[in-house]
Amino acid sequence: MTDSAAMRELLGEEARETQALIDSLTSNIDDLSSAREGDNSDDEHDPEGSTLAFERSQADAVLIQSRDRLTQIAEALERLDDGTFGTCTSCGQAIPAVRLEVRPYTPMCVACAS
Ligand SMILES: [Zn+2]
Repeated sequence: MTDSAAMRELLGEEARETQALIDSLTSNIDDLSSAREGDNSDDEHDPEGSTLAFERSQADAVLIQSRDRLTQIAEALERLDDGTFGTCTSCGQAIPAVRLEVRPYTPMCVACAS
């Protein structure tokens, strides 16, 4: 049996952390963008330029992941509301409590997620 109040708390915490990460990534990406704009040299022949491009693509990847996570958290909160939280959205089996403690936003059991 899952304690939904505690789970709601956990999800809220996770959402705040994820949002903070998104905010800091967004400002990093802005910094990287303006660093590149201030640099008139050709990226392909400039090691500095390609490092910035690499950092930017890394930050973009984490940003996309974090936005996905926020969506998963919102969906998990909806499942808490409609009483389906803790049930795998794929196979309908209960998701083990230990898994929910680590990833409260996960929609699927280990078998279905892998
Ligand atoms: Zn499953």
